[in-house]
Amino acid sequence: MVPITYRCWVEVSRRQLADNYHAVRSLVGPDIGVMPVVKADAYRHGAVEVARTLTAEGAEWLAVSNVEEGVTLRQAGITARVLIMGDFLSFERPALIDYELTPLVHSLTQLRDFDRMAAALEKPLAYHVAVDTGMGRLGTREDAAEVAVAIRNARHARFEGVMTHFASAANYDSPQTEDQLSCFDRFCAALAGLGLRPEIVHLSSTIPVAYARRRAWGNMVRPGHAIYGYVSPARGNDAPRPVLDVKPALNWKARILEVKDLPAGALVGYGGMFRAERPTRMAVVAAGYADGVHHRLSNKGRVIAGGKLAPIIGAVSMDMTTVDITDCPPLKPGDAVTLLGREGNAVLDARQIARMAGTISYSILCGIGQRVKHVYS
Ligand SMILES: *Cc1c(COP(=O)(O)O)cnc(C)c1O
Repeated sequence: MVPITYRCWVEVSRRQLADNYHAVRSLVGPDIGVMPVVKADAYRHGAVEVARTLTAEGAEWLAVSNVEEGVTLRQAGITARVLIMGDFLSFERPALIDYELTPLVHSLTQLRDFDRMAAALEKPLAYHVAVDTGMGRLGTREDAAEVAVAIRNARHARFEGVMTHFASAANYDSPQTEDQLSCFDRFCAALAGLGLRPEIVHLSSTIPVAYARRRAWGNMVRPGHAIYGYVSPARGNDAPRPVLDVKPALNWKARILEVKDLPAGALVGYGGMFRAERPTRMAVVAAGYADGVHHRLSNKGRVIAGGKLAPIIGAVSMDMTTVDITDCPPLKPGDAVTLLGREGNAVLDARQIARMAGTISYSILCGIGQRVKHVYS
């Protein structure tokens, strides 16, 4: 491999992404499709490379949040089916058609509009209907009979799928997931009673897959987090253990700009938030909150330096983070530290970082900044 000459970068393992995809594949079995979610730049693993990797492994569908993300995949030559989950605005409709993206339709008005567009075209446009079974966000709340009428009236667009999304899948103390499932089953049964049987039925993101809530698998699942190697913990007395074995695919690194010895009593960074209690060897690392190092890790977070966990001292600033490396092996400017990932025996994953920052692992991954480079192996 060529030497990496970046200040701050992530290394993404294509092999690990593929292994995680296959772990989901083999758990759900051959009769259930797997639609990896690559929205938000594949949780910052790089949507195009992740899409290339997973389609090469057999993924026939990918899901993104918006039309722009779908267009990015198409322009990179991705030909898999692409589901747009986060709705589309009227100005995005031409791109939806030009790039053959498949929308989730969230309302009957939208379904009529979409059909009008389809009428003007040669090729049939497929869509999936999103049902709000209790998430209380996007998705139609109309009853099945109303939806069925709208589907029938939409003679040009092709009704291909129906889906819903869970609000509390990780919480086994809450009845919400079972309530949503019952609501969804009733909806689908009513549609079937009216002669409408979509080819594709999908409800589950990572959690219901990883905790084997098979009743919620439909015939396609939509994992995001699991593809990147994460399964959030389930809560509740009856919470089962996860049955999915996946591992993080990303290491996030930054170089040391300067190593300095501070006398006891010295203050570090904005606000003098840290005071050295002892003579302290400090490294200034070339990544700050503009790169995605959460500001709440100020005086609280850790990085891995020389294979050992080392505390962040002082405020995380925009472009730099200061770290206490007194107890680490010798390090010099130009050496890299690990902001997230594994180095020697030390591990720092997005969940651990999220806990220190008081947020969720998703937001740590998605927060990896724009100027952080990507390297794939
Ligand atoms: C983001 C998203 C997913 C993927 O969720 P994970 O928890 O990352 O697996 C699935 N479905 C919808 C509708 C989403 O918005």
